[in-house]
Amino acid sequence: MLQAEIKSLLREDISILIKIPNSGKHYLCDCGEASLLTVKEIQSVSAIFISHTHIDHFSNFDGIFRHQIGSGEKIVICGPKNIHHQVEARLKSYTWNLVDESAIEYEIREIVSKEEINVYKIRPPHWDLELGTTQNFLFEDEYVNVDFAILDHKTDSIAYLFKEKDSVTFNEYASEFKKGKWISELKTAFENNDSNKEIRIEETVYKASDLFHLLTKSEGYKLGVIMDHAVCENNYEKIKTIFKEADLVYIETFYKDEDQEFAKTNYHSFASASGKIMNEFEVKEAIPIHFSRRYTENDKLEIETAFYKAFREN
Ligand SMILES: [Zn+2]
Ligand SMILES: [Zn+2]
Repeated sequence: MLQAEIKSLLREDISILIKIPNSGKHYLCDCGEASLLTVKEIQSVSAIFISHTHIDHFSNFDGIFRHQIGSGEKIVICGPKNIHHQVEARLKSYTWNLVDESAIEYEIREIVSKEEINVYKIRPPHWDLELGTTQNFLFEDEYVNVDFAILDHKTDSIAYLFKEKDSVTFNEYASEFKKGKWISELKTAFENNDSNKEIRIEETVYKASDLFHLLTKSEGYKLGVIMDHAVCENNYEKIKTIFKEADLVYIETFYKDEDQEFAKTNYHSFASASGKIMNEFEVKEAIPIHFSRRYTENDKLEIETAFYKAFREN
């Protein structure tokens, strides 16, 4: 099951690390100031997902690439329109005469629309952008698929949904057969919907579909990160489409209810609004994140109380 950790302290910005179980790989959502993020964790990040480039979400990008350079890895960066130019500008603002092109490669995926993702590559020491392809999906690796919604925060703000791949498990106790390589053959037949596949167990041949009852399909865990967004119907429609019934969602809750006028002016959300939509969209668990820096520990408690009251309401 995917696990997320908030790496920013109260009054810092925001950065969330997502860990994949039984793998050394991590994903990072946003690059705000985050003193709990360790060098070792940064070095295990294989992809960075930027919601938008307001300074509280992007200021620590330098701190991140500082520890990635020299790894020789290829690291993916996903983000909103123009993210490639903003990454380029940051990288070009340093001197790289002692670094050669094998030190790292960033692959930048610029989200233009739901169907149009531009893919760029950028490498040291010159950091000149090369446009590769345009694709209609954002991110997939051996562990997850990442879907997204483009929300309105007076600028595009990308909300990401990490969906673990579905898994098929063998029910050992329901089976009277001796274990063998037929189990993986059966799983493959199941995944490919190949009911007629012949499966040999010891001396007997079975039709795959007659053995499918020995398998259980479990749907992959769905973890969402919804950063800055305005309280408006248009955003909620998009959030519903992607995040409905997700297992766990971290959602921006920048203001207390009593400060909701600021939320409106700044295209942000507030406590009961974030809690309410998480309830309406039947999200199983939700966590409010990213509070205004002027708030104290007590204000944070107030936000959490109002959020969970709205979230748990029937
Ligand atoms: Zn913002
Ligand atoms: Zn923000």
